[in-house]
Amino acid sequence: MFINEVGEKEYDIAIVGAGPAGMSLALRISEQSNAKILLVESGVLESNPEINQLSEVDATGDLPSSYYPVHAQRNFGGTSIIWNGYCTILEERAFLNGEWPIPYTDIISFYKDAVEILGLPEEAYLEPSQRFPTDAYNIIYKPYYTGSPVRFGEKYRTYFSEHPNIDVLLNHTCTEVHSNNKAIETLSLQTSTGNPDSSINIRAKYYVLACGGIGNARLMQLGNIAPQSPVGQYFMEHPHIYDEAVLELDKAVIDSIIGSGRVFHALQLSDEYCVQNNLLNFAVSFSTDDVEPRIFLGEKRDAYISDATIRSEMVPQAANRISLSENVDPLQQAKGQIDFYFNYQALAKKSWDAFAKELLASGIGRATSPPDVYQEISGGGHYVGSTRMGASADSSVVDGDCKVHETDNLYVAGSSIFPAASAANPTLSIVAFALRLADHLSERFRGEYSL
Ligand SMILES: Cc1cc2nc3c(=O)[nH]c(=O)nc-3n(C[C@H](O)[C@H](O)[C@H](O)COP(=O)(O)OP(=O)(O)OC[C@H]3O[C@@H](n4cnc5c(N)ncnc54)[C@H](O)[C@@H]3O)c2cc1C
Repeated sequence: MFINEVGEKEYDIAIVGAGPAGMSLALRISEQSNAKILLVESGVLESNPEINQLSEVDATGDLPSSYYPVHAQRNFGGTSIIWNGYCTILEERAFLNGEWPIPYTDIISFYKDAVEILGLPEEAYLEPSQRFPTDAYNIIYKPYYTGSPVRFGEKYRTYFSEHPNIDVLLNHTCTEVHSNNKAIETLSLQTSTGNPDSSINIRAKYYVLACGGIGNARLMQLGNIAPQSPVGQYFMEHPHIYDEAVLELDKAVIDSIIGSGRVFHALQLSDEYCVQNNLLNFAVSFSTDDVEPRIFLGEKRDAYISDATIRSEMVPQAANRISLSENVDPLQQAKGQIDFYFNYQALAKKSWDAFAKELLASGIGRATSPPDVYQEISGGGHYVGSTRMGASADSSVVDGDCKVHETDNLYVAGSSIFPAASAANPTLSIVAFALRLADHLSERFRGEYSL
């Protein structure tokens, strides 16, 4: 239910942030146990420009400071209030390479329920990618699916307003996480608008930060949590390059694999090929709007002619980071400072050369040469990596259970935990990881509270 104040109540689990990550987590825990949950959200039910100012940052590098708050909306439902809803699963490459400390199968099993929460067609987990029926298997087809983009705040509002074990506190921003070096003791909250002296403390057995890909690292830094870890470092985006090369694809071969429900067609190099050739995952999307005749292997055939859009992962670099600015936000907290460069030109060329070679060899089609230097590399509005998952406390922030290393009761949800970005849009995987974390936390209350 929606509440206006917390009083002296102590919760089992306090979740900060009601975007897709925080809401999926609360939904699943409430379905599996009787744990008492507090969901704290900076924003209110509708978009509010004054509260959105809390997401403003200072920035240096390839993206201007005005870019970042657009993709960090503050309201009940988070950035899903404006997202486009395209979804595809993480590729296996970085799991095969050991960049993730968990096996790929650990996350694959959660996509079925994540697809349901996001209102996607079931093919999104049943047929996430397909191989072509040709001899050359280095190119795969990996579509992006959508239903209509789920606005979490609208879709799940009634569930949250009626559930007896979930308290939702809107218009309250978590400004500090208080630790005794071993565990989190309390969170400080301030009203996002209104009385600036209205700070309250809340208590829970477990705490989860689900404040988005920038907010999680910033909040940990504001509370000086895990200062020995790379919190804030390895911040990543998805480099996007639009329309700088053209694809000619054999229509009959493409038609043999694409279905009507796949809204957004993309080809990729296979995970095995990427690992063998030390390449990052790299998706090339195309449209089927224009058909023209072309000669393939000496034969005249219909071809899809399409500008190519590249979506890729990038190398994690410690120097790409979120830290605390000298300037403050409207609640007098240090703003985020983001220093970020893609450093992607050389990698894009390497990936494209490999892709063009394999596309030709596969008989699926061909690609024109892109320019030596891409005119513009833009981002996808996906913030990844700044509280990365890993095996050791020196080189990562959270462990395989999404728990902050060496802190007993603090967890992180969202794409900030991804140690590798994959070429895939993140939200389906954000939800899948939130469900996995929900199962881990629900387990703590089994026996005591199980339904
Ligand atoms: C225009 C646009 C299009 C997009 N399209 C796609 C797409 O097609 N596919 C895709 O996969 N992704 C897409 N995205 C990205 C997608 O919206 C995000 O990946 C997703 O919303 C992240 O979920 P989250 O819960 O981790 O973070 P968010 O949605 O950002 O939610 C975080 C929540 O935490 C709250 N919060 C933050 N700090 C605090 C604090 N200190 N105290 C209390 N509350 C706090 C915020 O108010 C917010 O409600 C798009 C984004 C944009 C902007």
